[in-house]
Amino acid sequence: MIKTKYYYDKESLSYKKIKKTKTEILKTIALYLLPFLGLNSIVCIIILSFFPTPKEIILEKEVSQLNSEYKKIEQKIKSAELTLEDLQTKDENIYRIILNTKSINNDIRQAGFGGVDKYKDFEKYKSTDLIIDISKKTEQIVKKLGVQSKSFNEIIQLAKDHKNKLRCIPSIQPISDKDLSRISSGFGYRIDPHYGIRKFHTGTDFAAPRGTPIYATGNGKVIKAENRSRTGYGKYIVIDHGYNFKTQYAHLNKLAVSVGQNIKRGQLIGYVGSTGKSTSPHLHYEVRINDEKVNPIDYFYSDLTIEEYEEIQKINSQ
Ligand SMILES: [Zn+2]
Repeated sequence: MIKTKYYYDKESLSYKKIKKTKTEILKTIALYLLPFLGLNSIVCIIILSFFPTPKEIILEKEVSQLNSEYKKIEQKIKSAELTLEDLQTKDENIYRIILNTKSINNDIRQAGFGGVDKYKDFEKYKSTDLIIDISKKTEQIVKKLGVQSKSFNEIIQLAKDHKNKLRCIPSIQPISDKDLSRISSGFGYRIDPHYGIRKFHTGTDFAAPRGTPIYATGNGKVIKAENRSRTGYGKYIVIDHGYNFKTQYAHLNKLAVSVGQNIKRGQLIGYVGSTGKSTSPHLHYEVRINDEKVNPIDYFYSDLTIEEYEEIQKINSQ
């Protein structure tokens, strides 16, 4: 209750009411209301502390749902990591071994990972650890996938090259078994038929009737196709197969190719003859690696049947 206050007026010699300004009236009201409002606020705070607001209830639900989603993502990341590990294992233990190429350094495979500063922004969140963990794992997987993708590009290139190499390396007989009379002379020391002394024979001799077709033993390019009947080799052909391999076909009766021509395995390149230093029709066949003569017999498919041999010729001539 607001008490009315008076003052003594000396002029009228009487008591008069003290008139209050609006501010004073408001102050007086506030003075009485504040304790009441204060009490109310305390009650409200207490209620709010124990009972969440509708907005808080919605937010809590969202957080709970997000946590559940994070767990699902974590599972998917684990599954992706396992798949990636499987690819890495196949890459290292199968493809790279088959293609005889070096393995990828483990540090590169692990996609070197920097500090955690880039995740500082996440530290203000309640689920910081979870978010940082998932972000790190995701980034690592992306980096590892990048490394793996590059590796597979390299493997594909190597496989293509390997396939080409297999087509180029001399690996069939230059004369079909059905035309072959016999292998008259092997690679190594023998008594030379011209000089009657022990001499190293640098190739394999295939005895066959004059005019028997001679086939290229691997893909390549003719680098020599010459008629030098006065020298030992007579009419002869040299094919460069790449990968440091060359083959030579000597004592031919007739050449069927010319220098610079690209040749496929099984392609007809000439005919058996007896030109040069030769006592009877035969093919003198040489295989060279880095210009060193090696035993041609090591480069034949020893278990091929005539049909398979002819099939290879057919395929390679297409
Ligand atoms: Zn010979």
